[in-house]
Amino acid sequence: MTYLAVPISGKDLESCKKQIAAAVKAGAGMLELRTDYIEGLNVDKLRELVEFAKQTALPIIVTCRDSNQGGQNILPSEFRKKILIEAVKLGADLIDCEYSNFIKDFGEPIKKALAESKKTKLILSEHNFNGPFENLNIIYDDMFTAYPQAIVKTAYKANHINDCFAAFDILKKYGNKTIAICMGQAGIISRIIAAKLSAFLTFASGGENQETAAGQLTIEQMKNQFRFETINNDTDFFGVIGEPVEHSIGPVVHNACFAAENLNKIYLPLLVSGSQLEFNQFLDNITARPWLGFRGFSVTLPHKTSALEYAQGKGEYIEPLAVKIGAVNTLVIGLNERITGYNTDYAGALDALTNSLGITKKQLLNKTAAVLGAGGAARAIIAGLSDVRAKITIYNRTVSKAQGLATDFGCHWAELKEIEKLDAQIVINCTSIGMYPNNDTSPVPAKCLKKDMVIFDTIYNPLETLLLKQAKQAGAKTVSGAEMFINQAAEQFKLFTHKNCPMEILRETTFESLRNKT
Ligand code: NAP
Repeated sequence: MTYLAVPISGKDLESCKKQIAAAVKAGAGMLELRTDYIEGLNVDKLRELVEFAKQTALPIIVTCRDSNQGGQNILPSEFRKKILIEAVKLGADLIDCEYSNFIKDFGEPIKKALAESKKTKLILSEHNFNGPFENLNIIYDDMFTAYPQAIVKTAYKANHINDCFAAFDILKKYGNKTIAICMGQAGIISRIIAAKLSAFLTFASGGENQETAAGQLTIEQMKNQFRFETINNDTDFFGVIGEPVEHSIGPVVHNACFAAENLNKIYLPLLVSGSQLEFNQFLDNITARPWLGFRGFSVTLPHKTSALEYAQGKGEYIEPLAVKIGAVNTLVIGLNERITGYNTDYAGALDALTNSLGITKKQLLNKTAAVLGAGGAARAIIAGLSDVRAKITIYNRTVSKAQGLATDFGCHWAELKEIEKLDAQIVINCTSIGMYPNNDTSPVPAKCLKKDMVIFDTIYNPLETLLLKQAKQAGAKTVSGAEMFINQAAEQFKLFTHKNCPMEILRETTFESLRNKT
């Protein structure tokens, strides 16, 4: 079992006590008393705090962090040593001492205090706020040699998600005798995956703005969104690979669906910065470590072509239409870590269209469709529509892109400003015109919208664009970008789990997440 530890970082005893009460209420599994945050810290204050924390019955760590390693207040070394020794005498479950101080002059008196205590254990720790340690294995070996009974901890900044794998290798090797945390946005996954690898603990903040290190999730996120308590050796991981990913609604939506189906699967935000090289390194790192349990990915901007090229480079199966689109938005890891590639964007868009119209895909044959835009979304939708032999005209601001797409898929093309001559049964906006914050713009003049048209806007922020509002006013049928998102996510769920997606949950969580965005 991996403890979910909440750092208590109040500047005075009153705020520490409030944080402790809130952490207990939120379901903390352990408390880390960061005494270096307390103004005017002395032994009496330490005693009062430890006694208060003991009443919770949760295990307590006492830390008085050196300011060289992230401590809040600059405190004399002798004083910090004294606080740790007092904490042992007060019956703290654990004290946390920096390894560099332990091998200087903290070691002997701390060992003596620990020998006299039946209860307290020692965490030896090293921190690097600038980047990864170069010699992580040696650091762990040295720390275990210095005090074999110790729980050994490192926390370093991941400058890239690929920096996390060294920490995973340590956790795999030593399990619950270790803590290995990667700080920063790129290290977020290390805080969750720790539970699968049986780390001694992982940290979560008591609430927003209470984090003591960059990338710490809140206890609420850890427990409710990432179902921390359900993670075990058998958990499968999935995630969205992109840059940026912090605003993606994928983790909320997919995790809600996994939870609804009671599946031992967790979906993570995977910030993969850089281009093809870094993307390839990430997937090579994943496939070299089957014990991490990654089984599939959603792929978003800017990596959809990198995903295609990665799978092609490995000679693996890629859905033929994904090859034609030139983009893979879903990767599935199968037996022997073989990766296959798919594109659910076109299927999601076609499903959104046909479900809303109550028709089959075959009935799109010979329907006239105007596709506005010639970017990635347009290409996926045009591939899908040309597959069912709809008659497509592409309208785009940059004419050369419209021409190129039209050549690839055998369509007509026109400049976007010719949209006034629009005459089509289906109109699909694949430009970003009308997207938040430009909610009051539309790519199609209202006068061009007719009641016998179907107007589909792929934009989902805002949920109802100006184009859709005006289409409704004209009496046209409308299809929203949220429907496309929902249908492509449902396809991904099927590819990830070989089960049908719980559509009610998917719809509810998608609309709720999108409403919270606008
Ligand atoms: P993209 O590859 O960057 O393409 C953007 C398109 O918008 C291009 O055709 C571009 O024209 C056009 N455009 C941008 N600003 C414009 C302006 N001011 N005036 C005229 N044209 C403009 O982006 P994408 O990935 O295809 O995404 C396009 C839209 O699809 C976005 O709104 C996105 O939200 C939506 N989308 C929705 C889903 C979903 O699940 N609902 C999934 C994917 C995408 P130029 O070629 O002239 O630059």
